[in-house]
Amino acid sequence: MNMIDPWGSSIIDYDKLTEQFGIKPFTDVVDDIPHASKLMTRGIIFGQRDYNKITDALNNNKPFATMTGMMPSGKMHIGHKMVVDQLKWYQEKNADIYVSIADMEAYAARGISKEKSRELALNEYITNYIALGLDVTRDNFHLYLQSENDDVKNLAYIIGKKVTFNQMRSIYGFNNSTNIAHIYTPLLQVADILHPQLKKYGGPKPVIVPVGPDQDPHIRLTRDLASKFNEEYGFIEPSATFHRFMTGLTGEKMSSSKPKSAIYLTDSLKDAVKKVKSAKTGGRESLKEQKELGGMPDKCSIYELLVYHLIDDDKKLEEIRSKCLSGEILCGNCKGCASELITDMFEELDQKREEARKIANTLLK
Ligand code: SF4
Repeated sequence: MNMIDPWGSSIIDYDKLTEQFGIKPFTDVVDDIPHASKLMTRGIIFGQRDYNKITDALNNNKPFATMTGMMPSGKMHIGHKMVVDQLKWYQEKNADIYVSIADMEAYAARGISKEKSRELALNEYITNYIALGLDVTRDNFHLYLQSENDDVKNLAYIIGKKVTFNQMRSIYGFNNSTNIAHIYTPLLQVADILHPQLKKYGGPKPVIVPVGPDQDPHIRLTRDLASKFNEEYGFIEPSATFHRFMTGLTGEKMSSSKPKSAIYLTDSLKDAVKKVKSAKTGGRESLKEQKELGGMPDKCSIYELLVYHLIDDDKKLEEIRSKCLSGEILCGNCKGCASELITDMFEELDQKREEARKIANTLLK
């Protein structure tokens, strides 16, 4: 069966994905975006559904919202920073920002208590979001726990009327031993995404959901249900962008549950630098070979770190890439450069985190 497993962790073939599931290339819309972000122009955001609604809102100052959810289940790693960068960008563009803490899903799918979810969400995730520059004090920022948002819970129940178990099974691969609460959680996510369009929240408007491609089943289900409830609620089918996952430092997908694959935002500086120094690169077997053949930046987790998070200047990046390809620089040079940049980033984060935690703990009161 051609499924994407939203709870799995397989490395994704992006081209196959766009072909099989009808995700459109982001390059189709990127030129229409005013001051597109680096994640957009560098192809890290590679795909989209219906992004034209968002370019229209961006270019014509129309209201729109950005929605993201977090299932607090572990420590935040540097790959998660991508979502924060996107929220910050949309916040600057005056979108309403909605962040759902999926405590009900965390309980149903992973057995994490509501109290633990809340604690992790505020002290780990939101604290880091703030330290990374998201302004949670602005009026356009909305944070909530799924279990405490009656509008979301009621909407999930109502939209459930137009989904069958067979549909859920074919989208998510649920089987006879999946618990019922888990089967219900996709409806909560659909309601998370649609509720900013309820009258109480300003009525129908475009909503953009930035996700990894593993979340596309939720997007497809949400768009289907938005159209089924269009007459009753006026829902507009939400748009989505899809970003690439970071390769782990060990060469597989970066994952919170694989400490060696990820740099956690709360790693000590010493550990973070150590991880950079021992990361898998696209270097050759020997120095002689690398000088002759050049390195392979597209297979290099250090280069990826520079592209995704550490270097803003496109020219500088291009220079590293061409020097790598020609064998002019060696992996030790890049690791040194990445270590310095990550040191700057971590020192700044460390400085900001204490104040950020205080702000985070004023939320959800
Ligand atoms: Fe990666 Fe730099 Fe080595 Fe090239 S030289 S493979 S970019 S670490």
